[in-house]
Amino acid sequence: MKKTGYHSITGTIHLLSGMRIGGSDDQLEIGGTDLTCIKHPVTKQPYIPGSSLKGKMRSELEAKLEKFGGNGNEPCGCGNCIICRVFGMHKPKAHNLGPTRILVRDSALLTGGETELKAENVIDRKTGTAMHPRKFERVVSGSEFSLKIGIQVWDMDGSCSHNGKIGDDALIEFVKEGLRLVQRTGLGSGVSKGSGEVEFRDLKLDGQPFQL
Ligand SMILES: [Zn+2]
Repeated sequence: MKKTGYHSITGTIHLLSGMRIGGSDDQLEIGGTDLTCIKHPVTKQPYIPGSSLKGKMRSELEAKLEKFGGNGNEPCGCGNCIICRVFGMHKPKAHNLGPTRILVRDSALLTGGETELKAENVIDRKTGTAMHPRKFERVVSGSEFSLKIGIQVWDMDGSCSHNGKIGDDALIEFVKEGLRLVQRTGLGSGVSKGSGEVEFRDLKLDGQPFQL
C-alpha cells in the first residue's frame, strides 16, 4: 500500500446567515445565553472545527447515497463504499480500505466574527403555545472563515469511481459533492430555522480556481 498523491481544496466559508456551532455550555453564566457558540480557547474568536464540517459533509453524502450504519441512525461502517473510503469507517473493524482520505482542517476566522443572540421559542406540542424561549449565540452573517481540505490518494484508489470519474478525480469529485450538499443545506445547528446558510467562495484545487 503506497501513497500516490495529495490534493488540496482551499477557499473561504462565507456566512449568508448567522451560524451556530455549539460550544461547551460549562461557560454558562447566570442570566447569560443558554447555548454559546464554540470559540478558540486562546484567541476567544469563533471558529468552525474541521470535525463539524467533515461530519456534515458525511451525513449529507450518506443521505444522498442512502448508506447508513446501525439501524439507519449511525454513520456507515460497511467498509466497501466510497463514504467509508473517504471519511473513514464508523466503528472500524478489519478492512483493507487504507487510511481516511479526507483531512478537514479547523476553519479560522478571517473577517467578522461578532456574535448575536437569537431567541427561539420552544412550542408546547399539546397546547401550541410558546414556552421558555431560549437564546442561542450565533456568529453574524457576513463573517468569513478559512476552508482547507486535504485529500490523500493511495495506490488502491486507481479503480475508485464516482459520478463517471475514476481514481484521483473520483475522490475529488466526491469531496466537491459533499461541499455542494453542505452549501445547499447549511452548517451548524438550527439550519431549518434559517441559521447556518453558507457559501464556499474563492475555491482552489491545488492552487487552481474552480467552481463547485
Ligand atoms: Zn460504507
